[in-house]
Amino acid sequence: MTTLTKATITKRGAILLGKSVACDAFDPSKPLRVVTHAHADHMNGLRQSLRDSERVLMTKATKDLIGVLESDRCLADGNVQTLDYGESIGYEDEQITLFRAGHILGATQVQVEDAEGFRMVNTGDFRIEDTPVLPADILVIEATYGSPWCKRAFAKEVKSQLVSIVEKGLKAGPVYVFGYHGKLQEVMQILSTAGLEVLFVVPERVFHVSKVCEKHGMNVGSLILSDTKEGREMLETDSTCIAFYHSSSRSRTREGLFQITVSGWEFNSALHEIGDNEYVIALSDHSDFYELIEYVRQSKPKLVITDGFRGAHAQTLAKEIHKRFEIPAVALPER
Ligand SMILES: [Zn+2]
Repeated sequence: MTTLTKATITKRGAILLGKSVACDAFDPSKPLRVVTHAHADHMNGLRQSLRDSERVLMTKATKDLIGVLESDRCLADGNVQTLDYGESIGYEDEQITLFRAGHILGATQVQVEDAEGFRMVNTGDFRIEDTPVLPADILVIEATYGSPWCKRAFAKEVKSQLVSIVEKGLKAGPVYVFGYHGKLQEVMQILSTAGLEVLFVVPERVFHVSKVCEKHGMNVGSLILSDTKEGREMLETDSTCIAFYHSSSRSRTREGLFQITVSGWEFNSALHEIGDNEYVIALSDHSDFYELIEYVRQSKPKLVITDGFRGAHAQTLAKEIHKRFEIPAVALPER
């Protein structure tokens, strides 16, 4: 295999590493499928992988999350193998190892090392502060915030601003928080760790995702289901509590509530008022542009592939990496 054929990204979004591994989408040419984490754009063709791949690799936490987000039955039929961070398996003459990625619970980076010691790494989605940088010969890197204007100068203030705005809202009644699965649980953990002692009212799916997070060591506070008598009463009587809903439920809430939306697409300030008692908090589970560049700097690859299947700024990121490090960098798949 030449360097350029050792790793690529297919039109269906599969990140191919070496001879054996396809990450985050099904590919018929690779016997091993890796699911880097339980977000939908990384589970492409999962059912086909469960049926046709020799093995489907993921962390235990990702398996548990898929169990509640999709269904347990979905994973029951396939040959799923769970690995811990740092654990390797061999396949023919390649070693496959998963390493932690700070993103959502269970997220992993993937390293494939061939018999010559050539290392191919896929970062998956990651936030650099909780992610070990892996040395790589070929590095496949996510490109969600791959443009230089994606810069969060305020990242350190986000948690304290989140706690402050929630405390302010609670003085008048319930606070509603909207976000994606994984992100909601991170907010729960931030608020619980900060010592806020109020009940978290949640719909069923958020409850099950949160319980998986709790099982894997996160502090998600005290949960109560929104469709129980007690949960309904708390919301209807404007009690002091925090209600957590998936972003897709936002349109179904009534007006005049104290609402906080959690979003990664905010670069001006940690907290932004968008209406009367309506706020956006800039809590991201991805690296910004400068953190992506920092990963490349430390990883010292000979070639970089930016993930243009999932990130709109992959071309820009590839150009910036080439300019800064004078190494080949390409956005794939080709458009
Ligand atoms: Zn993700």
